[in-house]
Amino acid sequence: MKTNRRIFIGTTTMAAGAGILSSFSKDGKSLPHYKPTGNGLKFTFRPFELQLRHVFTIASNSRTTTAVMLTELEWEGVTGYGEASMPPYLGESHQTATKFLSSLNLSQFKDPFKMEEILDYVDAALPGNCAAKAAVDIALHDLVGKLLNQPWHRIWGYSPENTPLTTFTIGIDKSEQVIAKTKEASAFKVLKIKIGGGNDEEMIKSVRSVTKVPLCVDVNQGWKDRQEALDKIFWLKEQGVVFIEQPMAKHDFDDTAWLTQHSPLPILADEAMQRVGDVERLHGVYSGVNCKLMKCTGMREAHKIIEMARSLKMKTLMGCMTETSCGISAAAQLSPIVDWADLDGNLLISNDQFEGMKVLEGKVTLSDLPGIGAKKII
Ligand code: MG
Repeated sequence: MKTNRRIFIGTTTMAAGAGILSSFSKDGKSLPHYKPTGNGLKFTFRPFELQLRHVFTIASNSRTTTAVMLTELEWEGVTGYGEASMPPYLGESHQTATKFLSSLNLSQFKDPFKMEEILDYVDAALPGNCAAKAAVDIALHDLVGKLLNQPWHRIWGYSPENTPLTTFTIGIDKSEQVIAKTKEASAFKVLKIKIGGGNDEEMIKSVRSVTKVPLCVDVNQGWKDRQEALDKIFWLKEQGVVFIEQPMAKHDFDDTAWLTQHSPLPILADEAMQRVGDVERLHGVYSGVNCKLMKCTGMREAHKIIEMARSLKMKTLMGCMTETSCGISAAAQLSPIVDWADLDGNLLISNDQFEGMKVLEGKVTLSDLPGIGAKKII
């Protein structure tokens, strides 16, 4: 039996003079500890615009850019990175995020490990502003993970080899463009097809003319009649579709519950699913939920949503907006425990500022980097 109980005094990735020492024995009996220095968190943010590779069309709109806010939370020489992605339908913008983030006083917090206290303060500061809140939450998780020198999937206890395949999204378009985009996405083993724009059959047939991979469809509330919706779902099942996302209006609980009850495929809530309190409300109406950091204020609440949905035996999908690899890598930390991942937002843009989670052979592949598992490259 080993008797060598030499104590290793290691430092984390921070600069000399930092407030944290990582000291632990070989038998793991003593835990990492830190010495608070009295310095508050330093928070900065800057607006940025993501350029999309293709015009992106869903049932309700088209666009070529997405407004984001890039955030940094620094403490004792260590910097955590965060992001708010604000597609127009969310109702947030550079203006609203600037107003919200400027109103926060994060320097009052001297200890980043008090995450619950800090994030409760951020959430209570103003209603709404979920993406802007996520930008703080992600930066804080990145900072704390770096201070612990571990990625969050390890802190939460998830096995990185259990990550799912990720879908790649094909937006609503004319047949020729859909075929071209599908060919371009040949590295992906599952595709998410946007429908609900009046050409559902054409969309699916165009995709099917070039690939046999399983498909998911996102209707973005585009269907109005439940019987028509059910007929389409039976047809879609024959076409190799595995789930249906947000088929009808988000407030239409009665028709959606009826559809879920009769549907041969799982029905997932996206627009209807925002915060953790929605999960129980949606139980029995939908088969599962699409959880996105930008809708639910970030990683702390996404973790609660996924765990709660799983406990209710609901299906889980980890989704995203068009985001840099900062937001995507943060979301990917939760992906080992979800049924499906839709984490392609960084692949839809041409000016990514980060590198992190990668899609290898169609599968979400986590990096070993601590925190959210991403590094700044520009
Ligand atoms: Mg959706």
